[in-house]
Amino acid sequence: MVSLRADGKMLTSDKFHDECGVVAIYANPEAEKLAYLGLHALQHRGQESAGIVTSNGMTLNQHKAMGLVADIFTTAELAKLRGTLAIGHTRYSTAGDSALLNAQPILVQSNKGMMALAHNGNLVNAGEIRSRMESQGSIFQTSSDTEVIVHLIAQSKEHTLPEAMADALRRVEGAFSLVMISPDRIFAARDPRGFRPLAMGRIPTAPGDRQGTIVFASETCAFDLIGAVYEREVKPGELIVVGPEGITSRFYATPLAQSSCIFEHVYFSRPDSRVFGRPVQESREELGRQLAREAPVEADVVVPVPDSGVTAAVGYAAESGIPFRFGLIRNHYVGRTFIEPSQSVRDFGVKLKLNPVRSLLEGKRVVLIDDSIVRGTTSRKIVRMIRNAGAKEVHMRISCPPTISPCFYGVDTPSKKQLIAANKTIEEIREYVGADSIAYLSLEGMKQACGDGEKTTYCTACYTGKYPTRWVDVEDIQPAAVGKQ
Ligand code: AMP
Repeated sequence: MVSLRADGKMLTSDKFHDECGVVAIYANPEAEKLAYLGLHALQHRGQESAGIVTSNGMTLNQHKAMGLVADIFTTAELAKLRGTLAIGHTRYSTAGDSALLNAQPILVQSNKGMMALAHNGNLVNAGEIRSRMESQGSIFQTSSDTEVIVHLIAQSKEHTLPEAMADALRRVEGAFSLVMISPDRIFAARDPRGFRPLAMGRIPTAPGDRQGTIVFASETCAFDLIGAVYEREVKPGELIVVGPEGITSRFYATPLAQSSCIFEHVYFSRPDSRVFGRPVQESREELGRQLAREAPVEADVVVPVPDSGVTAAVGYAAESGIPFRFGLIRNHYVGRTFIEPSQSVRDFGVKLKLNPVRSLLEGKRVVLIDDSIVRGTTSRKIVRMIRNAGAKEVHMRISCPPTISPCFYGVDTPSKKQLIAANKTIEEIREYVGADSIAYLSLEGMKQACGDGEKTTYCTACYTGKYPTRWVDVEDIQPAAVGKQ
């Protein structure tokens, strides 16, 4: 990413966006298997690489590879990882840095002992810290932000790992939900603004064992699979340490105005998860209801773009009284690369994934619901697909406001140049996607639907261009907007 240094120079690294899921397990005889299952439940947060580091009480062992969780961790690999403590990470990244080298957790042997770290989010001052450290002789092995935190922990003058971690976290800025493992402890922390989620849960165990197994995960859907009960969020600015002494919590920094990512509720998290203390299902259905109130249209069927638009479409249909129909069917087995026929088929890519149900669409006025439009290319193809299936009218409804600014906190949005809503008016977008009408949800409507101001307040920078931190890409935004939110 590109960030601005205090002296006004631009810094670049080939690192850009990371969408990730993290999980941690404290004290279970099958910690490696629980981490594996937790990662499987978080697979939607990243499909490019995954890794697990375990502790057997003495030393740390790791396995990480490119690919999907279920393919990476065979029975034989998991047997090699046997341990009682574990952390795991699943990652999707863009822009040419998908190498295995950047897969997480990052495991190091440092002057503070062995430790491994897994990180969800993006730091906004990693480039600055990195170039300073490199000029002082530090050698980095990866291009990931996370390694900056590892170096800061190793170089901290604090002697204990919790203090060194707290010291390191005070020096970085941006989005981080972290889990860390040492041979006898698990650490979990969130940045002071609480950009990305991290929840704590517990697997109740046999009578006599008071603590049970303590677990952390990006989303609570991971808890459900491993039989853990949700307890609470890791709070913004909080560092929790779980070790032989029990569970301790400290605030390593004063929490700042909370700015949790609203896009977790709009799109990213699973509807069966509780995120930032709020069920995603509730937000997403309400987003659809609110959209129906703000942007009604006379139509025969409500059709979601699967899977991302489904829950909002349920809400839109319920509020409008227009019947909900699965008018597009998704093929769930789309792999990475497909051989295209030499006579190239129009919209081949989207057809691999989606197919219209002609009998449901023919002659109908369709309300097409999706969670977001980014570049607009997918929506354009889907609208064409629905028309080709015989729909009489296609009214596109989007369950969030226009995406006008990139994310620097861990969501994969392209640069402003590629964001259709940053470059075209709503009418021009309608024309581009080929819909009869188009409407987005209002900013206020979205915030209200996601319970803004109740349990959390949200970062909405991708919709407003107002960023809650400094160090964002000045090429991509109006400088005046920085730090205003
Ligand atoms: P497009 O407008 O063609 O760039 O793509 C819009 C589609 O991408 C919508 O169906 C969204 O659900 C989906 N989408 C939006 N943001 C993301 C993201 N960060 N990662 C993956 N898919 C996304």
